[in-house]
Amino acid sequence: MATATATRPVMLACEEPLPVPVGRPDSNGLAERPLPDVEITNPERSRSLKQQALAHVTPYQALPVQGPLVEPRLTASYPVLEPDEDRDERIQTVIEEYKATLVERTRLHMGYPYNLDFDYGPLESLQKFCINNLGDPFIESNYGVHSREFEIGVLHWFARLWEIDQGEYWGYITNCGTEGNLHGILVGRENLPDGILYASSESHYSVFKAARMYRMDSVQVKTLASGEMDYDHFKQEVTRNARRPAIVNVNVGTTVKGAVDDLDHILRVLQEAGYTEDRFYIHCDGALFGLMIPFVRRAPLVTFRKPIGSISVSGHKFIGAPVPCGVVITRQRYITALSQDVEYLNSKDATIMGSRNGHAPIYMWYTLTRKGYGGMRKDVERCLRNAHLLKTMLEQAGITAMLNPLSSTVVFERPKDAGFIRKWQLACEGPIAHVVVMPNITIDKLDEFMAALIQSRAQCAAEAAHQLAREARLQAAHDLEEEERLNGGLGGPWQ
Ligand SMILES: *Cc1c(COP(=O)(O)O)cnc(C)c1O
Repeated sequence: MATATATRPVMLACEEPLPVPVGRPDSNGLAERPLPDVEITNPERSRSLKQQALAHVTPYQALPVQGPLVEPRLTASYPVLEPDEDRDERIQTVIEEYKATLVERTRLHMGYPYNLDFDYGPLESLQKFCINNLGDPFIESNYGVHSREFEIGVLHWFARLWEIDQGEYWGYITNCGTEGNLHGILVGRENLPDGILYASSESHYSVFKAARMYRMDSVQVKTLASGEMDYDHFKQEVTRNARRPAIVNVNVGTTVKGAVDDLDHILRVLQEAGYTEDRFYIHCDGALFGLMIPFVRRAPLVTFRKPIGSISVSGHKFIGAPVPCGVVITRQRYITALSQDVEYLNSKDATIMGSRNGHAPIYMWYTLTRKGYGGMRKDVERCLRNAHLLKTMLEQAGITAMLNPLSSTVVFERPKDAGFIRKWQLACEGPIAHVVVMPNITIDKLDEFMAALIQSRAQCAAEAAHQLAREARLQAAHDLEEEERLNGGLGGPWQ
């Protein structure tokens, strides 16, 4: 142990004795303290406000995030201890242990659409810097430790991919796909303040979260079995609400089934319902697939040559990055409605976040520069091929599977064994699970996964059969007892 002075405990606010709860005897067993005479301001009003708020919010809820759908697993913690003499050794042990966990979890990951195959070794020396691109990427702030030159390079790359000229577009590197959705929908709302948000019920939960945050009216459009928007239902809804502008979220790859909403069909519906271009705004949520679809042959084009307002993607999904990040691109003319000068930054404020991760643009720049458009195309082709392979393997093993034609998301029956789901980090919703085939999901890994899945299913089936036998045995014993009791009642030998 270190000397008393070195380890003198620091008194924290949370170590102050807690006040005794009102209305209960305190720990010394003293008499109950009376409730203080606080005037509760109009309880009726608070209640009704809350009810109104709920009534207002509930329709926007995509999927309930609480209740029986989730089985919370509590996270363990590495406690933060006060420094002592073996602090450095202790830190080292924790980090080594944690690193081993990361290696194992990275190896056994199938469910989420993250490309875990990357090596940013040459960028390690940049860890020493607090790189922050706060504010607008195109306008230098007074804070000089930034990476805007990389950010603009990456943005131009995406602008070219989605066919919008430099000078015509505005965008930035976000913290994640969710931030891209929050931004795209905000740009729509600020340009069409009275607009109603339309999104399919299989949209990512961040889309309806945006509607809740911005207090927008929203319509959940039904979906087809594939996970695509039900265009007939969409048509009914936009026709019914034709007096108000439409802000439409188009899924370029849904989270669970990888379904792509047909942008051309949606545009046609809007036109038929009498919406001119100044009365609708389309945000394309391409978190995963927005970066893959331009490289898929025969896929419909998602491009700014069509009247869309914004596209967003996640950077840590298909590209692969050690930190969550993303990109959002919109038209320059829409941003004017939204941005404000901020003297403190000497920049403009048109982003959702203030401080922005300046390392993220460098990671993206590095991978895009190393792979180029050609390398990305190869990655996409390999993922689609391997996704087909997985689907075929599942079907041959007698497991029902589905793969949308443009997608690398393979959907199949949810495995029964929760331990298996956890081990392979499968994302599940209701009766289905999926594997999103990313560049790091190799043929060998699929092979290993299938062997484990088949084994787990066999084990579950064996256990289920065993359980049935056990129940049948109990029932038979019970029947026998019952029979003997009846016989006994009629004058059995033990009476
Ligand atoms: C993953 C995903 C998002 C959210 O992206 P994050 O980077 O996780 O915030 C949004 N939409 C879709 C379709 C997604 O798959």
